[in-house]
Amino acid sequence: MPLEVIQADTLDTRIQPDTQSKLSRPHPALLGSLTPNVSPEQVINFSPGPTSLPKAVEQTITDNFNKPGLTSLALSHRSPQFIAILEHTIAATKRVMNIPDDYEVLFTHGGGHGQFAALPLNLCKNQSDIATYVVNGTWSERGRDEAQKYCQVNTIDGSNTQTGQYNDFPQLTEADIDPDSKYLYLCSNETVNGIELHHLPTLPVSRQHIPLVVDASSDFSTKPIDWHRSNIGVLFACASKNIGHPGLTLTIVRRDLLGQDKASPLCPGVFNYTTNSDAGNLWNTPATFNIEVVGILMDWLDENGGVEANKQRAIAKSQVIYDVIDNSNGFYSTPITDKSLRSRMNLPFNIKGGNSELTDQFLIESWELGMVGLRTLTPFGVGDYLRASLYNGVTEQQATSLAVFMQRFAHDNS
Ligand code: PMP
Repeated sequence: MPLEVIQADTLDTRIQPDTQSKLSRPHPALLGSLTPNVSPEQVINFSPGPTSLPKAVEQTITDNFNKPGLTSLALSHRSPQFIAILEHTIAATKRVMNIPDDYEVLFTHGGGHGQFAALPLNLCKNQSDIATYVVNGTWSERGRDEAQKYCQVNTIDGSNTQTGQYNDFPQLTEADIDPDSKYLYLCSNETVNGIELHHLPTLPVSRQHIPLVVDASSDFSTKPIDWHRSNIGVLFACASKNIGHPGLTLTIVRRDLLGQDKASPLCPGVFNYTTNSDAGNLWNTPATFNIEVVGILMDWLDENGGVEANKQRAIAKSQVIYDVIDNSNGFYSTPITDKSLRSRMNLPFNIKGGNSELTDQFLIESWELGMVGLRTLTPFGVGDYLRASLYNGVTEQQATSLAVFMQRFAHDNS
């Protein structure tokens, strides 16, 4: 019998049930619980995703699904009713995000990770084709690692030469970008590290023929995109942060990059941009409900001032928290010192240099007030920092509530 099993059995017989219940269990806040003992309206979800959508969007979803008749959960994806939903979502996304007509809007499967593989498989016909990856955080690193299976990757390393940490975005010089690169990949918001590009970079003149590929999973819809000026070839966003629910990825592809002659012959059909574009997003069964949700979210953005107003909200929400951090005399600190790169979406911060007792106390007290998701498990562990994620589902008032709590906590514990 394996050792682990023997130990577990022994423990079970030694500890009586009532003794077991008395053993102190960690506070739910420290286990990442998202259901504090407050009324549901008081919960503020600061999770990095999946997370909440704006209340009005959640209400429309509920209303739509309470109507009699078939909803997108039950509609055949080839029915005229669902086609109307699909067309609406595409039109609303194009309108809100000013997507030019030479781009195809695809709804793909497999999340962000699916696109990590799909990109080289669609844009590199041969395994010897070159792609350049800017790696300045955990997600661009993952994207690069996946691409290495399918093409030759050149890395522009954005890690700090002394600490090895990611807290910057590297200069993009001519010397670092192979002119034969099929694309240059970057992540416009590093969700874990809290580094955001508020403007996409311009490549050196001699490299401007290289299309940009952007992982905008955690910042899409929160600032305008100048598609042509930034020479965007492909931009993708997994839905579960700002625009919808997991199970759907929005992948926007410039049409000149389509064509089976450009893709690897090994590219699976479900990942193949040309196959899915030719089939009008219906090559296989798309995530019907999730597509409807993206349309509802885009309508909400339209009704609330569009993407420019959303950017202003993102600035205001993040500013109120960064102000508390910067004015806390070092009680709080954030690893991104270059303010022009600080994420408006994911704000990492620690307490007294990472003091674990105070951090636990902070998590418990904020949780008791209904604030959740400030420390979640990632594929990279819990990380050294707490993180407040301020996606579209978080209001300015809710961000202010966190800022006020942080101020009070610092005052009481300095
Ligand atoms: N890219 C970024 C920037 C992300 O934040 C995430 C998920 N947190 C991913 C990619 C991976 O997406 P998924 O889990 O949907 O594969």
